[in-house]
Amino acid sequence: MDIQTIGVVGAGQMGNGIAQVAADVGLSVKLMDVASAGLEKGMAAISQSCDRLIKKEKMNEGRKKDLLARIVPTTDMRALADCDFVVEAATENVDLKLKIFTQLDEFTKTGAILCTNTSSISITKIAAATRRPELVAGMHFMNPVPLMQLVEGIRGLQTSDETFRIVGALAQRMGKIFVEGRDMPGFIVNRVLMPMINEAFYALYEGIAEAKAIDEAMKLGTNQPMGPLTLADFIGL
Ligand code: NAD
Repeated sequence: MDIQTIGVVGAGQMGNGIAQVAADVGLSVKLMDVASAGLEKGMAAISQSCDRLIKKEKMNEGRKKDLLARIVPTTDMRALADCDFVVEAATENVDLKLKIFTQLDEFTKTGAILCTNTSSISITKIAAATRRPELVAGMHFMNPVPLMQLVEGIRGLQTSDETFRIVGALAQRMGKIFVEGRDMPGFIVNRVLMPMINEAFYALYEGIAEAKAIDEAMKLGTNQPMGPLTLADFIGL
């Protein structure tokens, strides 16, 4: 399957990062959000993210210009009709996602692969909202998308081997490393990470150490780039 055009649903924290990385590897991107203010914010975030990369000498002005030119913002899901592949990154709400996938199934062309960036909702359930569950999979990017290497790949019960292979190949094309996990809430990373962050809260609450000391100990003692409490602040709880 030759993927040329990718749709991204939701222009928030994750959606704008996914759109940025897709456009950076040369894909045409349709970035869709229900809110035009959200779209404007998303496009501004992409521009700022590119500026940060330029400052670090990981991008230049020409590449930024080309990247931005490849992203078409829209509030109309029908604009995704010509997409070969869609990644949904809208608000984490099961009813909303089921509605979006029913619409995507209606508006996108036959054979287009539909992925969700959900962190906790069943891929099988989301896939069942479409008439093409074999073409639906989980593609779980990490935050911030342009910097984080991992994409977790999740099969629903009916995801075909061919679909899953294409999802993995696209993740790789976007410069990511694809790791498969099972369709259970939290998948791999959040399943392990969230209890650790929760334990860090309890360690603070029980007076085991000050916040700074907990972070320092976990950084130096388990070779993590930042401590769990700092990470919790970054994630935004
Ligand atoms: P966000 O709140 O930053 O953005 C969500 C966007 O979805 C908003 O711009 C909103 O206007 C838009 N939206 C709502 N309804 C829509 C609709 N019907 N059609 C199109 N757009 C719609 O959220 P986020 O943090 O980017 O999370 C998006 C998804 O990614 C969620 O499923 C979340 O669980 C997952 N995720 C988040 C993170 C993270 O760290 N933030 C990491 C991995 C996965």
